[in-house]
Amino acid sequence: ISVWSNVPAGPPDPILGITEAFKKDSSPQKINLGVGAYRDADGKPYVLPSVLAAEDKVISERNDKEYLPITGLGTFTQAAAVLAYGTDSKPLSEGRVAITQSLSGTGALRIAGAFLARHYPHAKEIYVPSPTWGNHIPIFRDSGLEVKTYSYYDKKTVGLDFEGLKKDLKAMPDKSIVLLHACAHNPTGIDPTEAQWREISDVIKSKGHFPLIDNAYLGFASGSVDKDAFALRHFVEEGHQLILCQSFAKNMGLYGERVGTFSVVCADKEEKARVDSQIKILVRPMYSNPPVHGARVASTLLTDKKLNAQWLAEVKGMADRIIDMRSTLFDLLHELGSKKKWDHIKNQIGMFAYLGISPEQVDQLAREHHIYLTRDGRISVAGVTKHNVRHLAESLHKVTA
Ligand code: PLP
Repeated sequence: ISVWSNVPAGPPDPILGITEAFKKDSSPQKINLGVGAYRDADGKPYVLPSVLAAEDKVISERNDKEYLPITGLGTFTQAAAVLAYGTDSKPLSEGRVAITQSLSGTGALRIAGAFLARHYPHAKEIYVPSPTWGNHIPIFRDSGLEVKTYSYYDKKTVGLDFEGLKKDLKAMPDKSIVLLHACAHNPTGIDPTEAQWREISDVIKSKGHFPLIDNAYLGFASGSVDKDAFALRHFVEEGHQLILCQSFAKNMGLYGERVGTFSVVCADKEEKARVDSQIKILVRPMYSNPPVHGARVASTLLTDKKLNAQWLAEVKGMADRIIDMRSTLFDLLHELGSKKKWDHIKNQIGMFAYLGISPEQVDQLAREHHIYLTRDGRISVAGVTKHNVRHLAESLHKVTA
């Protein structure tokens, strides 16, 4: 009898299941709105021209392939921190941010979970928004934290349940760990306004909660890095000691290169040095040190003036195409005579739109219209193009009429 005969089959990943069903569908009209990766105006994967140019530059340097330090490529982590925290960030200029390169956003969250489980003195639970990115829950559970939720989505308005959110923040035990999506909340696409962020910061401060900020979409939401960094920078200015998890998967299109950062805002340089030493103790037995190629490409994009300007313009191009597809879809639904209120499609931001439709309507979209999305009614707007948007609008109108 085999050693593994008692290993039970696990459930399939819901997103990969959608891709399977999509592949099997032979209709020329089929649309896959499940995957969270950007597609160009023709629905094709997109490698940013600035990334190709940075890659050419990196390859022409004929670098060696030696190991990076445990905390990664210093030029990259430094430039990534400036991008997120801002050029005039006090903790950065005071040298009190402990930062390490991570295996994209997921790897940063995994280090965060492990670091908090081992060193955060006040709690072993983490509160995540309901709903949240599906992977948050197993990431933190596997890191040794108990996962709890706070109110976020309001089904009635397909918007933010701001009162419920504040109420839950106040009801948690003092000094709880709270996960916040910095911008472009996944899966809902619903972000607090700047005024609401200020209030959230005040409540978190009054309760002494610890903010863990997941920033997987910097620049990708609005097209402006500074705008998308508002919540993070406001929290830092307000004196929160926080952890930031940063991903370059979406804003640089470096998905498979696994480029990200994990950083901790510390009280002073001496504390930063102690935190740094503990990050190394966590990372060394997990994966020893991070991969070098993607970090060199990202570092080039962040530090080469010309390529940096080109990259920022291309990020804005991606964000603009998504925003444009949101209005086109909205306008078409109106034009087709839909009586439903679809304003949320335009008001939401980032890669995803939460349609506010039922799982049965999602099934009907797949069965009758060859349109594939997750059963929570989330579509990746990046998968919508001028070629398929009419079919999407007509089908959506039909299943909701
Ligand atoms: N956090 C959120 C909210 C995300 O949506 C994603 C990706 O979909 C990630 C983190 C991490 O992605 P990656 O590990 O590819 O950087």
